[in-house]
Amino acid sequence: MGGYDLNDPIKKILVEEEAIRKRVKELGREITEAYKGKDLIVVGILKGAVVFLSDLTRAIEMPVLIDFMAVSSYGKSSISTGEVRIMKDLDFSVEGKDVLIVEDIIDTGLTLNYLKDILTKRGASSVRICTLLDKPDRRTVGVHIDFLGFEIPDEFVVGYGLDFNEMYRNFPFVGALKEEIYS
Ligand code: 5GP
Repeated sequence: MGGYDLNDPIKKILVEEEAIRKRVKELGREITEAYKGKDLIVVGILKGAVVFLSDLTRAIEMPVLIDFMAVSSYGKSSISTGEVRIMKDLDFSVEGKDVLIVEDIIDTGLTLNYLKDILTKRGASSVRICTLLDKPDRRTVGVHIDFLGFEIPDEFVVGYGLDFNEMYRNFPFVGALKEEIYS
């Protein structure tokens, strides 16, 4: 039909579409159970978490408020401090609320460590983390993951929200990119 094969730029699929679908449903049930009767704010980290968040929130069987933040790391020198710049802040206050941060992938852990810290300082009653993917080999700071989709090896992956130069976010699976795409 279309003539484009989604596998063309992909070296290896690490998480198949069907496996994602199944795990996202389970995560939705776990989250529903964990927040029964609570006022939950789901905070998606732009742009990578958007695809995951859109499926995940529809698997949560209670009303939730959805908000977004966009962040970017400072220059190389301050990466070690884990400081991130907030490019777009939340529209709503998290004071007294239960917050679930939804992220695409945890790599070094610096981004989420920082975000969890600032949302806690803003007076959230709880701040928990849900990430689709975890690359534990690359962790430099400890981050507790409350809800995890899949652990993956240290490879650069795209798809299901994750990009390379803003491309491939729409791919329905998570795959490692072919080396020739980088160069
Ligand atoms: P951390 O602060 O945990 O090192 O950074 C997490 C962020 O790095 C993710 O939100 C994502 O934007 C980016 N990242 C880390 N690993 C990958 C990867 O394999 N593929 C893509 N597309 N982004 C990644």
